Amino acid sequence: MVPNRIAAARQYLERMNLDALLITSMHNIRYLSGFTGSDGVVVVSRNSLWFLTDSRYRTQAGEEVNGFTLGEYQRKLEESAALLTGQGFLSVGFEASSLTVAQHTQLAELFTSGILAALPGDFSAIRSVKEQEELTALEGIAALASQAFLDLIPRIKPGATERQLALSLEWLLREAGADATSFSFIVASGPRGGLPHAVPTERAIRWGELVTFDFGGMLNGYCSDETVTVAVGSADERQKEIYRIVKEAHDLALEQVRPGVTCRQVDKAARDHITAGGFGEFFGHGTGHGVGLEIHEKPTLSCRSEEILEEGMVITVEPGIYLPRWGGVRIEDTVSVTRDGFRLLTKVPKELMIL
Ligand code: ZN
Ligand code: ZN
Repeated sequence: MVPNRIAAARQYLERMNLDALLITSMHNIRYLSGFTGSDGVVVVSRNSLWFLTDSRYRTQAGEEVNGFTLGEYQRKLEESAALLTGQGFLSVGFEASSLTVAQHTQLAELFTSGILAALPGDFSAIRSVKEQEELTALEGIAALASQAFLDLIPRIKPGATERQLALSLEWLLREAGADATSFSFIVASGPRGGLPHAVPTERAIRWGELVTFDFGGMLNGYCSDETVTVAVGSADERQKEIYRIVKEAHDLALEQVRPGVTCRQVDKAARDHITAGGFGEFFGHGTGHGVGLEIHEKPTLSCRSEEILEEGMVITVEPGIYLPRWGGVRIEDTVSVTRDGFRLLTKVPKELMIL
């Protein structure tokens, strides 16, 4: 139990004038209780904390979860509802993004002595500002993944397939100590670079092509996220020109990063530059997102985001240009927001590398 995290959850309670919160997403359960297993429920009220899981996790919960009253369930929703009823809670907030419609319907049928209310916005936003210990974890996995990519470079040559390179990068990352990848890697060569989320295929890389790698590791629950686009053998003028525009957009967006700036403003810096270069319609996604226990979390850096950057947030900046049938360029770094700017967590240099 981390007292200031519980305090943040209780502020939600107060703001919504609820008796209790029923937390069901595993990332939020981990954040509040320290539990690293895959099944559980947390109930937070003004003066009590409950943690329920099933018998598989009895020992683990005993070791990891402190400061909570521990309980066990055989049927999660039945016993969660019994706890809420038994405690006499009349209004309970739930995570609408975590319960399915079927689960919500069942819970409402079981919990008839009070009302269930969807938590406003995204409750996960309590995780946006990272503590020092989290920043250290995020910096560690980002550096480890960057080094794995640098170690992959000698293998990026004509004839290597996207799948071979994705697998080699995963191997290097795991060998260096990562627990897992933070998502399925993207390796997109030549014209396939025009697909922002291309799945690696058996396609072999050819001389003179751009190849985009989007990759990340996970360590002690925390994720990393980085994208590098390289040229193999040579780069022609058009490839260099598009790379230059994306790199400038990336740098302009980073220049905006500091506390007090809206996420929309960071997005706008990148988007306006790409639009001025004539490629606005080929940059369809947002400029970035938060990274933490999840690969995509709050805040969101898009043209609609009114969220404001705060010291301690960890975000990506990842503009791109994707031209159908030609290919694409994306450049992504993860940074932490510091008092007067940002700190780069990902370490692969972003000048165009011609391998
Ligand atoms: Zn990425
Ligand atoms: Zn990303």
